[in-house]
Amino acid sequence: MEYSHRYHAYPTQKVAETVEQHIDVHRQAYNFTRYEYTNHNDADNVGSAYKHHDRLTDWKDEFSVFTEVHSKALQRTVTRFYQNLSNLSEKKRNGQKVGMLKWKSPAEFQSMTYSQSGFELKNTSGRNATLWLSKIGDIPIRYHRELPDTAEIKEVTIKKETTGEWFVSFGLETDEADLPEKPSVDVLNTNNSVGIDLGIRNYIHTSDGKTVDWLDLGDEYEQLRRKQRKLSRKEEGSNNYEKQRLKVAKIKRHIRRKVLDYQHKLTTWLVREYDAVFVENLDVKGMLEQSYNAQNKQDAAWRQFITLLEYKAELYGTHVVQVEARGTTKECASCGVETAKPIWVREHSCPSCGFECNRDANAAMNVLQRGFAELGLGWPEDTPVETALPADTHSVSAKRVVEAGSPTLKERAASAVSE
Ligand SMILES: [Zn+2]
Repeated sequence: MEYSHRYHAYPTQKVAETVEQHIDVHRQAYNFTRYEYTNHNDADNVGSAYKHHDRLTDWKDEFSVFTEVHSKALQRTVTRFYQNLSNLSEKKRNGQKVGMLKWKSPAEFQSMTYSQSGFELKNTSGRNATLWLSKIGDIPIRYHRELPDTAEIKEVTIKKETTGEWFVSFGLETDEADLPEKPSVDVLNTNNSVGIDLGIRNYIHTSDGKTVDWLDLGDEYEQLRRKQRKLSRKEEGSNNYEKQRLKVAKIKRHIRRKVLDYQHKLTTWLVREYDAVFVENLDVKGMLEQSYNAQNKQDAAWRQFITLLEYKAELYGTHVVQVEARGTTKECASCGVETAKPIWVREHSCPSCGFECNRDANAAMNVLQRGFAELGLGWPEDTPVETALPADTHSVSAKRVVEAGSPTLKERAASAVSE
């Protein structure tokens, strides 16, 4: 399984300058790959990343600047061009209008990748670690999340964001054999499985009666609005405009990072707590319930949430299944009869069987049932919905969910993989 972890990096000014020089050499290499690809006469030497790598010896003889950077990283940049090329043809095949691959200006090329060799992650202690890069040196990183023991670092990308901040991203791989086994579906029941309603009022509502609040980003969004207003009053292209633009980019990044961090913790909690987690398929959910205004932003956040949930499910040995979202709110979890509910009606009250509960709890219960069906399991016979549904809903604060070390049902998994 392949996944990645990303960290804030703090190179000294001197090291940062060196990295910038290297990135610029890689940019030239990228553009030169493009040039040779476009103007090649000799199909033997270009046309695939693999063939093009052989050109690098000639490049170095001709332009000494290419000897200044790590040679495996240089190969990786050539590969990057061919990856972009194949992404482009993929889009074309899907009927999208695409142009040619463009020459990259410095502003458009802000990263480089070390592949296979030339890097080492060291001195990992607490929240600090050091990344060593060949021909560059040591770069301190904020190690806020440990790499799983089973993870092998395949590559490292270092990138300068438009805010001027540095980040490193580790491309990781864990062998299928090292992943914990998922529990057999026969042992799943309503106690160790959970259905989740991705809510409007709460971030999530679980079928066992937990709600987790939205992360409170009110202050951050207020700051963002203020900074954007200020930006709109500056003259475009002026120094002050540029300064203000950076401030806007910085607060946006801060918000994204806070959401991502929160989602990391929330998804880790879920896959550690349960053997099976069922969620709604978002493509439909998004169209059904989001207001148009909020839709794009929330869609992206949900998608990221599901992506994290799915990769952690592999790491912790948990079933994660997406189920049909259509009708989860309307349908009665007890008898299956559908009743239309306007969005402001917060209670489910079934005119057919009389079953009553919170609207989101009813939806979460439907998700749970659909999850069991999806895995080929019937709804556990001895569990009527009224019994499976907890009498009280209790709100779990975002803070409590993310507290480290809270006891969970799945300590075995937690000890196998730390996060
Ligand atoms: Zn009913």
